[in-house]
Formats: sequence, structure tokens, C-alpha cells
Amino acid sequence: MDDCLFCKIAKGEVPCTKVYEDDKVLCFKDIVPGAPVHVLIVPKKHIPSLNEITEEDSELFSHAFMVIKKLAEELGVSESGYRVVSNCGEDGGQSVPHIHFHLLGGRALQWPPG
Ligand code: AMP
Ligand code: ZN
Repeated sequence: MDDCLFCKIAKGEVPCTKVYEDDKVLCFKDIVPGAPVHVLIVPKKHIPSLNEITEEDSELFSHAFMVIKKLAEELGVSESGYRVVSNCGEDGGQSVPHIHFHLLGGRALQWPPG
């Protein structure tokens, strides 16, 4: 996807504040943080949203959640708590059509979200 922002970030064509990277995922700080800890966990594979995941992607997403767990520990929110969100589609508030997870923490988060 040549015009996809997160594909461009994953390829190093657009800068980011990287927190973690491996062959499957890139994790970087959200440019408009909604909490003291706000990291995006982005699979390098271009999948537009949760609507398009398949069984073939199961390993990728289990891996992504292991990375999220590790990042929560490293960023110091494992004990205090945190939230993992994947916005999907218009009503879900998705603004970048490349699947990703928000890891939010460092303050008490409201529920339900607006
Ligand atoms: P969503 O609205 O759930 O699709 O999440 C997209 C997130 O990407 C938003 O929280 C944006 O603030 C964030 N974002 C957009 N552009 C960039 C960028 N260049 N670097 C880091 N985060 C970004
Ligand atoms: Zn993409």
C-alpha cells in the first residue's frame, strides 16, 4: 500500500518515535498522546482493520499481544493498569486504515469511551 501512512512508517519512509521493532511489528509513540503512555502496536503487514483479519494472521496477532504485554511491563504500567484498543471503521473512530492497537496507560482511564 503505497499511500498508507503506517506502511510508510514501517518502511522508514516517515519518521516515528520507535519504542520496539521486530520482523512482524513496529511500535511507536502516538503523535497525539491521549494518556501519559500511548504507544501504537502496528503489524508490518498491511491489513486495513479487524474486518479483514484471517486465520492466517492468528500467529501475528498472538505475537502482537505478547509484545503488548512486554511493552506494558517496560513502560511501567503493568501493575497500575492499561487499556488496549483497536478502533475499527467509522463508528469505531478509526482514522488510519492499517490495523493497529493503542496501548494506553499512566492515568485512570474513563469507561465507557466517548
Ligand atoms: P486510529 O484513529 O484508531 O486509527 O488511530 C490512529 C492514531 O495514529 C491516532 O491516535 C493518531 O494520533 C496517530 N497518528 C497519526 N499519524 C501519526 C504519526 N505520523 N505518528 C504517530 N502517530 C500517528
Ligand atoms: Zn498499511
